[in-house]
Amino acid sequence: SCRYRLDRFIAQHAAFSRRDVRLLLAQRRITIDGEVAVDITQPVGPFSLVTLDHVVLQQQQPLYLAMNKPVGVVSATYDNEHTTVIDQLRHSTECPLEPAQLEQLHIVGRLDRASSGLLLLTNDSLWSQRLMAPEHKVAKVYHVTLAHPVNADYITAFAAGMYFPFENITTRPALLEIIAEREVLVTLMEGRYHQIKRMFGRFRNPVLGLHRLSIGQWQLPPDSWPGQSWQLAIKS
Ligand code: URA
Repeated sequence: SCRYRLDRFIAQHAAFSRRDVRLLLAQRRITIDGEVAVDITQPVGPFSLVTLDHVVLQQQQPLYLAMNKPVGVVSATYDNEHTTVIDQLRHSTECPLEPAQLEQLHIVGRLDRASSGLLLLTNDSLWSQRLMAPEHKVAKVYHVTLAHPVNADYITAFAAGMYFPFENITTRPALLEIIAEREVLVTLMEGRYHQIKRMFGRFRNPVLGLHRLSIGQWQLPPDSWPGQSWQLAIKS
């Protein structure tokens, strides 16, 4: 996966020469990831979405993959210590994508290594940005198993939001539904670092299991198995 300067990228993907790019920029005809491009040296990464006159200059066929992430693998494309989800997919015999396609993917909303469940991967950065932007309010639903019993105070605290001084943020209203003494469903519209673990940490209640059931309209099929992957049909 390579990074190009914008002028080189345009020359390779459209009927213009590198010298034409300055004029195209002045005419505001090029966008990168939704922003009007201003600089011929601007880097275009493998996942950048570049448009010229509102037409996407497709670098790669857009790929959308879902997987049931097993416990113990890291939500990363590279790790020098642990197995990554890409390693897992590469070694899976039923993964629908070719190894070269797997190399293009980035992760849409990580899960901690100890967490499991629905993980989305794509090479379409605009799609992943939309899914993860808190202002788009895409719901992520987690099944959480706890060390100690929960009560109605948790519901109130999750709905009110919690202040985390380290990042100076207050979490957005979250829905907590009690399904058993030590089992809840949590619905988040955002994804802060270790958010669910830290929210239960306020109650000194360790999270024993965290399993993502859905992201927006995409649900983990109840009969899917850890490590399984499948392609998503995305209408654009
Ligand atoms: N919150 C966490 O603490 N961990 C996850 O993996 C996801 C949400």
